Amino acid sequence: MVTQGPLKILFAASECAPFAKAGGLGDVVASLPAALSALGHDVRIVLPRYGTISTEGMKRHMAPLGVPLGLGEAFCAVYETNLPGTSVPVYFLEHEQLFGVRNYLYDPPGRHAVDNLTRFTFLSRGALQLGKMLGFVPDILHVHDWPTALVPIYLNTLEATGHYRRTASVLTIHNLAYHPKFPADQMYVTQLGWDTFRPDGLEDHGEINPLKGGLYHATMLSTVSPNYAQEIRTREGGAGLDHVMRFRGADLVGILNGIDDRTWNPRTDVHIPVQFGPEDLGGKAVCKRALQRELGLAERRVPLLGVISRLSYQKGTDLVLEALERILALDVQVVILGSGDPKLEAWLKARSDWGDDRFRAVIGYSEALAHRIEAGADLFLMPSRFEPCGLNQMYSQRYGTLPIVRATGGLLDTVEPYDGMGGGTGFLFGEPSVDALVDAVRWAVEVHRERPEHFRAMQVRAMQRDFSWSKSAARYVELYGWALERKRYGEH
Ligand code: ADP
Repeated sequence: MVTQGPLKILFAASECAPFAKAGGLGDVVASLPAALSALGHDVRIVLPRYGTISTEGMKRHMAPLGVPLGLGEAFCAVYETNLPGTSVPVYFLEHEQLFGVRNYLYDPPGRHAVDNLTRFTFLSRGALQLGKMLGFVPDILHVHDWPTALVPIYLNTLEATGHYRRTASVLTIHNLAYHPKFPADQMYVTQLGWDTFRPDGLEDHGEINPLKGGLYHATMLSTVSPNYAQEIRTREGGAGLDHVMRFRGADLVGILNGIDDRTWNPRTDVHIPVQFGPEDLGGKAVCKRALQRELGLAERRVPLLGVISRLSYQKGTDLVLEALERILALDVQVVILGSGDPKLEAWLKARSDWGDDRFRAVIGYSEALAHRIEAGADLFLMPSRFEPCGLNQMYSQRYGTLPIVRATGGLLDTVEPYDGMGGGTGFLFGEPSVDALVDAVRWAVEVHRERPEHFRAMQVRAMQRDFSWSKSAARYVELYGWALERKRYGEH
């Protein structure tokens, strides 16, 4: 084992809360570096400067950074600030044309950006150039999903000697389903040799697949829950890359995401009307009434079910819509906060506009309302078809809002099933079907109504669970140790 003092770790990513976030990846790239830094490691983060990020008050580095790209070199400004509440430096690479003038991270709504290979090659190569400019030699380059998956390939090829010769790479899969492909004639954008365009590399049915290349090249791989680490080795769960996951199976570990338990803490939450803890759920009842009032729901003591989600097939939003009338017939209320698929958005908005005082949908993204729903709801619905880790079921448990989830991926790792005797922290169901979902909701509602002592015991247990990052951060450090060891013995 490589002896380990403090490590130098460079995160290269396309999201990091609060600067840019589309999903759980953005939460992880904020929370994990903070937790690693608290353990004494030297962590830094590189991101693109999206148009939505203001550089006001940030330090601007004097020299422009040159990034080899396509047939030449792109030059960009580098801005620096700290991750809020930490001393972790965050660097932003500014390129007006590729990132600055756009108001989206990956793709404009309903369309595909045609130059995403260029944009994220720039980010990947730019992160490497930045390390050189700063004189920062990382032990570990930690990259995330397809947008920075080219980094491990550069480390094994164009950067194999020199500044990064001892740097090991870790590629974390936040969602294997997203792996865009690009026409082979765009290989020049990456400046990588054609020898990397092969079936056990970047090539995927004649096209360039950056994630696939990264999966073959990274020193170690991880994903965000132990169960998902198993599922992606199977045909059903592998999103067309299961053969790669099986090939690299020995180098793949599942480490559960933690949650930011300063932000998501009902005792200190600044977004909710009354703070509360497991010893006194009176405050939760106040939050529920306030939420009902805010959303125009009847102020009744019926179970209130919450959903906070990207509206998508993955999240099973269509199942919720199809099941909605049967669920409402159980004499419950339902509130949905989400954005995503325009058809699902339109349907939800129309149904919400009926003025039914049992149902409300809020279309959009609202951190504050998400907190108020977690605090005010009794139950939380998450019928995902697949779920690499999922965060909301953990937030829910912290707020005593029992999750009803499909038994898949990280949901299976984080929700303890009700055992009929008051044990467990939530309700699980197997089939991704409307019937199975309705049955699970009926079951949870029955426990809420007829066995309030069981429900209460589950709430207390759920609220007392430890979902903090400190446990997971320690596992990442262990993983970095393995990566360094492999690198030292020249295996990757
Ligand atoms: P995914 O990354 O697949 O979207 P996760 O459960 O891992 O799902 O993370 C989703 C994150 O985004 C959570 O922090 C969740 O609270 C948040 N989120 C999703 N949709 C909304 C929304 N409409 N408003 C506020 N927060 C949202």
